[in-house]
Amino acid sequence: MKVFFDTVGCRLNQAEIERFASQFRSQGYEITASHEEADIVVVNTCSVTAAAAADSRSKIRSAGKDGQTKIIVTGCWSDLEPEAAASLPGVIRVVPNKLKDTLPAIALGVDPALFDLEPLKREPLPGIHARTRAFLKVQDGCDNHCTFCVTRIARGKAQSVSADEVLRQIRAVALADGKEIVLTGVNLGAWGLDFNPPAHLGDLMAKLLAETDLPRIRLSSLESWNIPISFLNLWADSRLCPHFHLPLQSGSTSVLKRMARRTTLAEFRALTSQARMINPDFAITTDVIVGFPGETDAEFQETVDFICEIGFAGGHVFPYSSSPGTPAAKMNGTVHGRIVKERARILRDLFQQQKEDFYRPFVGREMDVLWENGQVLPNGHWELHGLTGNYLSVRTESSARLQNTITRTRMENFDGVTLIGTAL
Ligand code: SF4
Repeated sequence: MKVFFDTVGCRLNQAEIERFASQFRSQGYEITASHEEADIVVVNTCSVTAAAAADSRSKIRSAGKDGQTKIIVTGCWSDLEPEAAASLPGVIRVVPNKLKDTLPAIALGVDPALFDLEPLKREPLPGIHARTRAFLKVQDGCDNHCTFCVTRIARGKAQSVSADEVLRQIRAVALADGKEIVLTGVNLGAWGLDFNPPAHLGDLMAKLLAETDLPRIRLSSLESWNIPISFLNLWADSRLCPHFHLPLQSGSTSVLKRMARRTTLAEFRALTSQARMINPDFAITTDVIVGFPGETDAEFQETVDFICEIGFAGGHVFPYSSSPGTPAAKMNGTVHGRIVKERARILRDLFQQQKEDFYRPFVGREMDVLWENGQVLPNGHWELHGLTGNYLSVRTESSARLQNTITRTRMENFDGVTLIGTAL
């Protein structure tokens, strides 16, 4: 039997798909690279923007149009609109987020205790998500109240996975020859705050460093207010990847207030400069929303100025889209679409420039690269793509299939998107 997984949205959705994949594999399923070849299709949906919700629907429709009659849907969009999801052709089941962790058991009618008896050899998922890094969900839900955010409505209250369970899953990745684990969560920095007594993500990281020997541990997106400066001391251990993705959302204090973000620009500034003091190669990337209700030209300029001041290694720009049920959806001051588009263009250009400024100084240096995915070229060599610890994207051509290995690599050039390296 064969199963195809598709996902839209955040790394948490990707982490969940990886776990589903390993559980289906443990029951003898083969993972396919397209829905056409599969007996079952699982789609993990997203509703973070109107475009993500539309993309979710389109992925389900496309599988149904191609004759799939066993489509299982889960995730934030189907949680918010379960009837719409269930009515799409081919959908046999909508699994709510609160039951998501048991989706494979529900789909296969298997006792969940039968999963994970043996760690399976790590295999990248076929298709566009092919990668060797393992994404691991350690936290779900969020107790904050950012006024634009529909994710917290779809995902519910914050819940953390116990340190022992995280450790168990990391050991399984290590046994399966994994090289890098990416810890993910809806609000990763809130890991442990729901325990009694509460714990901090730093406690989990310290434990993982002490009790595992995985070569690389990376954190996915973190809210800056969850990170005490002392947390950064852990980065004295070079196994922690020097990369933070810190969603800023706005560089204007008044917009942050309307967004009910707990970010202060002073704390954000202090955090990024401390990270760079610990390691000058530290990469800081971010997300910004443009066109939030009432965003004036002056407020947008404050954001531009703050982004220039921080000097990110890259960033994602999201034109604001109103999500029903969120407080921001009821706010006045809709920004005209033409202005939103222009602001998005300005920030995308700025982030591209900052990315180039961050990447260029690495030309000529030697760094460790984990090779993730690749393809065979007509000359029989491999074209491989990989990442450095500080999240630089690197490409190489090699006669050897280097996937899932870490090699010392000399950076020869930069083409504006990736570094071009030679594996040594
Ligand atoms: S921190 Fe804010 S944006 Fe992030 S999930 Fe929680 S409410 Fe949403």
